[in-house]
Amino acid sequence: MIIAIDGPAGSGKSAIARMVGESTGFTYINSGLFYRALTRKVLDAGCEPANAEYRDQVLRIARESTVRWQDGMVYLDHEPVPDHELRTDEIDAHVAQLSSLPEVRAVVNQALRESARNQDSVVEGRDITTVVFPDADVKIYLDASIEARAQRRYAESTSELTLEQLRAAIAERDRRDRNKQEGSLRLSDDAVYLDTSDLTIETVYDRVMNTIRMKR
Ligand code: C5P
Repeated sequence: MIIAIDGPAGSGKSAIARMVGESTGFTYINSGLFYRALTRKVLDAGCEPANAEYRDQVLRIARESTVRWQDGMVYLDHEPVPDHELRTDEIDAHVAQLSSLPEVRAVVNQALRESARNQDSVVEGRDITTVVFPDADVKIYLDASIEARAQRRYAESTSELTLEQLRAAIAERDRRDRNKQEGSLRLSDDAVYLDTSDLTIETVYDRVMNTIRMKR
């Protein structure tokens, strides 16, 4: 069984997907970390994902990389990469550019399907309900106002940015994620929509679990 959770940055996808994974025993897979790991590798190689000059090099890195999910972590070229190394302001600023390349998306989509193969999984990310797992058994779209999403990121204290800068950075990432040629962020007709702006994480979790119970 596949439970797919979609939605923009800061909508609560990761926290909810992790909680659902823990309570159901399903494998929790965070697709954003796949893109983040590849972004780090590309930046470490001195390439700018948004600059056409580096396009061939970027695509070669993506094609030659092995990215997969194991034991609750992303593995890049057979090495585990801790989440905190991938949730940096620098990666935040470049990941949407890298993930807008269809060739990169093809690599990640295949890696995600492979990671979820033959096991019950809860998978979260921007195009999970629409492109990666269009036949998922349960589809949920979590949303929230930009103010609520910026405030959540700010409260996590993982960023050096001010609240106002975070708000602008999230708005810019939303713009890029919504306007991609492939795998853009959009609400699928058959997804259950939940605006989490004014809800506690516990309330969101209860509603998501009720949806899952109804579909199982
Ligand atoms: O979920 P997270 O914010 O960590 O994702 C980082 C970025 O990776 C997103 O802003 C988006 O550009 C990209 N992404 C994507 N498709 C996914 C997951 C993430 O394009 N399924």
